[in-house]
Amino acid sequence: MRKKLHKVLITGGAGFIGSEFVRLLAGRRYEIIVVDKLTYAGDLERLKTLEEKYKFYKLDICDRYGIEKIFKQERPDIVVHFAAQTHVDRSIKDAAVFIETNIKGTQNLLDAAKKYRIKKFIHISTDEVYGEIKKGKFNEDSHLQPGNPYAASKAAADLLIKSYIRTYDFPAVIVRPCNNYGPWQYPEKLVPLTIVKLLDNKQVPIYGKGVNKREWLYVADCAGGILKIMESGKPGEIYNLGSGIEKMNLNLAKKIIKILGSSEHLIKFVTDRPGHDLRYCLDSTKINKLGWKPKTSFDEGINQTVLWYKENSQWLETKIEYLRKYWRDAYRKK
Ligand code: NAD
Repeated sequence: MRKKLHKVLITGGAGFIGSEFVRLLAGRRYEIIVVDKLTYAGDLERLKTLEEKYKFYKLDICDRYGIEKIFKQERPDIVVHFAAQTHVDRSIKDAAVFIETNIKGTQNLLDAAKKYRIKKFIHISTDEVYGEIKKGKFNEDSHLQPGNPYAASKAAADLLIKSYIRTYDFPAVIVRPCNNYGPWQYPEKLVPLTIVKLLDNKQVPIYGKGVNKREWLYVADCAGGILKIMESGKPGEIYNLGSGIEKMNLNLAKKIIKILGSSEHLIKFVTDRPGHDLRYCLDSTKINKLGWKPKTSFDEGINQTVLWYKENSQWLETKIEYLRKYWRDAYRKK
């Protein structure tokens, strides 16, 4: 058997992007440890074809003692930190768990990683930390002006990491990806939510007038970019991870409607999200210079995504049941 290169501890490996990254690493010479609390957004089904290829710990990253114990036992070389609360709308309803998970949870990992002298700590941040930009693009030196509690919690984690880099010479790299889409995404996010509603012949809610723009990256390309940074990114640096593919929310919904042969009459404009950022856009020259570019065109990626959801309706059903209950409870609390 060929010797494994490095032991990589992946937090949030049962989530949407984390599981794609585990799949990518599983085909390579890495030993994989996944740490995940399995919140409503986490699901080991995403990793079911890889059972022999990773070791799993069900654990909350807010459990400081538990995290330290895993580091002591496993002695990972590299950490790739995906685990987070990730849905902006939920953070607007209640920010508390976002602060706990995204900031304090990150601090626990940083402290354990520092104590056990890991070689590299890859922190998965987001383009949302920069806030909105009406024209032009954000580069890695742009100011942080988060526009919602989720983005603020991620920006706070970024600042904490930057302080560890400066104070302790901590070998962290911060990655800021744009909006991801693809198979296995939890159906509360725009792309899968639109697909799910249309498959059910239900109305598709679109915030405001649907003019908000996002940059869209196919999840397999995002995983590839993170691997590139893990292998060649410089400790202490920040890398934007964008595709250059911008879409207005309304046009994105129309594209999915077209693929599914549904009707645009199903689009329903709803009250805008409070503080809704108009546009995000990244300058990704720095990672491009490392030799990474996305491989998937938008047409290819969105067609594959729609097809995947059509073929995986059983998985979807389990999520929809849970979501319906969440929506009912959230509505009752209003
Ligand atoms: P996700 O919500 O699909 O998955 C998050 C995972 O983290 C889940 O498996 C969940 O169980 C786990 N988790 C949550 N709280 C935890 C805790 N306290 N302890 C341990 N595990 C916990 O998220 P995603 O879309 O895969 O995003 C992954 C990362 O990428 C996040 O840090 C997110 O901020 C960032 N990001 C996502 C996008 C996107 O478009 N999805 C874009 C930019 C950045």
